[in-house]
Amino acid sequence: MTHQLRMEAEVLELRTRHPFIIARGGSSEHRTVMVRLIDRDGREGWGEAAPASYYGESPETVLAALQSYATVLPADPFDLENAERAQYVLMNRNASARAALSTALHDLVGKRLGVPLYRLWGLDPDQAPRSTFTIGLDTAERMHQKVLEAEPYPILKVKLGTDRDIEILKTIRNATHKEIRVDANCAWTVKQAIRMLPVLEEFGVKALEQPLVAEDLDGLGEVSRRSSIPVIADESCETAADIPRLVGKVDGINIKLAKCGSLREALRMIALARAHHLTVMVGCMIESSLAITAAAHFTPLVDLVDLDGAALLAEDPFVGATIAGGQVRLPSGPGLGVTRR
Ligand code: MG
Repeated sequence: MTHQLRMEAEVLELRTRHPFIIARGGSSEHRTVMVRLIDRDGREGWGEAAPASYYGESPETVLAALQSYATVLPADPFDLENAERAQYVLMNRNASARAALSTALHDLVGKRLGVPLYRLWGLDPDQAPRSTFTIGLDTAERMHQKVLEAEPYPILKVKLGTDRDIEILKTIRNATHKEIRVDANCAWTVKQAIRMLPVLEEFGVKALEQPLVAEDLDGLGEVSRRSSIPVIADESCETAADIPRLVGKVDGINIKLAKCGSLREALRMIALARAHHLTVMVGCMIESSLAITAAAHFTPLVDLVDLDGAALLAEDPFVGATIAGGQVRLPSGPGLGVTRR
């Protein structure tokens, strides 16, 4: 089969400024995969896959999946719906690999039309909310230091899910009066979560992400019922199909391209969540400005933004959307508007 589009993939070695640790572990080294789709005129669409071992992906599985997906690339990049459908039918997992291809196709379409993605979707970039900046798990001293380094960011997201969660909250609160949101990354039991609720309220926490294991939807419902703080499902909500069973159990969902597998799926999730009056959040993995910018383009449609993946890096290979001062700012170039640094 011959295709008008040629695909090239390259592993990016990213390093965070500090080791990025959450309840499941973490490190400073993070590898993602950059995808380039090149058309016959030499125009290029770019995307980035940020594989998470939690979802069974690695840079190696992404590269292998991309080789398979390359066999079903569309002849016409504007054929977005069928392109994503064909990938999903071929292999419905490998979400980050599919997200990279979806991003690259959208980038190419935007470049051919000469318009930024947000404009293609009819969105006002000035309506993008502010983004949180994450304080990963560390010693009390270093978490205090990280809060000081996060001075330009008005909202902090604090990782919890340890046996010293209260001490961590105290450390953060002693260092700042800023709005804080917390993420337990599946680490608490229902009992622990319920015991933590008054503590979170006391410390003025404004959102609680994924307190329990992904499968415990009834438990999430119980925690939500007892909580005055909105509970947001992250690991429990990968695609739009997960949303109906979360209705009545949580207050909102966290959308990530590396989980849902495509920009079009992200937009479907937003529409479905809105129909159910759920709060819509968009999050990210540790990834460069290439993947961050793809998600940033639909932030005018969401309530809560956590797109700090590139801001946490020691060096970012790309220039695109930024969260300087916490405000999401979209580039005005065609497609993603991302360039190589
Ligand atoms: Mg999360």
